[in-house]
Amino acid sequence: MTDFLLALNAGSSSVKFAVFATDAGAPSLRWRGHTEGFGGAPLFEVFHRGDRVLSRALPFNSAEGLHKAAFAAMFEWLFGVIDRRTLIAAGHRVVHGGGVFTAPATIDAEVLARIDGFSRLAPLHQPHNVAGIRAVGDLVPGLLQVACFDTAFHRTMPAHAYTLALPKAVRETGVRRYGFHGLSYENIAGALPKHLAQSQTRVIAAHLGNGASLCAMRNGESVETTMSFTALDGLVMGTRAGSLDAGVLLHLMLVHGMSAQDLETLLYQSSGLLGLSGATNDMRALLESPAPEARLAIDCFVYRAVQEIGALIASLEGLDALVFTAGIGERSAEIRERICSRLGWLGVSLDEEANAAHAAKISSPQSAVAVLIIPADEEGIIARDTLALAKAGKTERAMGHPA
Ligand code: ADP
Repeated sequence: MTDFLLALNAGSSSVKFAVFATDAGAPSLRWRGHTEGFGGAPLFEVFHRGDRVLSRALPFNSAEGLHKAAFAAMFEWLFGVIDRRTLIAAGHRVVHGGGVFTAPATIDAEVLARIDGFSRLAPLHQPHNVAGIRAVGDLVPGLLQVACFDTAFHRTMPAHAYTLALPKAVRETGVRRYGFHGLSYENIAGALPKHLAQSQTRVIAAHLGNGASLCAMRNGESVETTMSFTALDGLVMGTRAGSLDAGVLLHLMLVHGMSAQDLETLLYQSSGLLGLSGATNDMRALLESPAPEARLAIDCFVYRAVQEIGALIASLEGLDALVFTAGIGERSAEIRERICSRLGWLGVSLDEEANAAHAAKISSPQSAVAVLIIPADEEGIIARDTLALAKAGKTERAMGHPA
């Protein structure tokens, strides 16, 4: 009988899931789905090979119970299409592992308490991840659950990169640079050997989606990244400003009387492409818009990306390859072209046709830097790590150790 596992991503406005079969050794994707529209009209949908196979409105819509309602709908559907005994584990994307979790972890009460303890470091994300873990624990008691951390990939950053120039008493409270999008970067690091020669060791990966960041990798390990203590730092994003002079916040508080709550909303929800354009955070819509504000928003996005790529090249002391991933990185030939044309001084040159076709390799043969597109696959990484821990647990039990 085929076994299955789940890769789960419980966020503030949606939950996403992917179901993998594990009989082929490595996990293979069977279905994807989500419940989107928390706070409005939540919709539960399931897809098989890109085709929608189910779409159902969820009647229930109260903020604290939505993760559970969404996962209840998911399990009701799932146990209609697979035997419930064949579901061996659920892996969760967890945004923050603090300085503690540098690898995926099997979740028990103690691990969950520690994960919850990092909620104050990522108040807008972590509580939703925790709610997802609790919901699955309630709905399928005894199911093996695994946490896969977005911070973990950056465990290899050197101290001079992750330390903020603040007094020790502040640093000792956990205030340091952590970095995020680690599951996406791990996916890229794993795919690089397929695309690059062994000597091409200095790579910058650009995860350009609604959230956006860069990661500098040496030999497939993170040495620097643009997100920092929180996912607010670095690039211009859909609704986040990216790097901002901390003095702006003091000014807004002291002169304009903004509260911490006001600032949180400003920084996470109404800045970035949305704040600049005054219209939308959707890059595709901005690219189609004739409005000067839309053009300025795109100019700022591209300029900041190029600037930060420059900073990461300094960290790496050179560059062998640049990789694009996520919504904008994978699908916008125009944004890739605009970023790469500003890196012409470095010897970056694109093959126009390959770029237009979103090919795996989009640099021209004479480019001094290889430019690649690698599709994001965070769920695949969660599934791989979850399966590894499920197998390890099985071995432990077979050897008589406690589960
Ligand atoms: P998230 O960070 O929410 O997972 P995605 O990785 O799906 O986001 O990226 C969303 C972004 O990708 C949006 O700004 C969207 O407009 C943009 N995008 C998707 N397709 C295209 C396209 N064909 N051209 C330009 N931008 C695109």
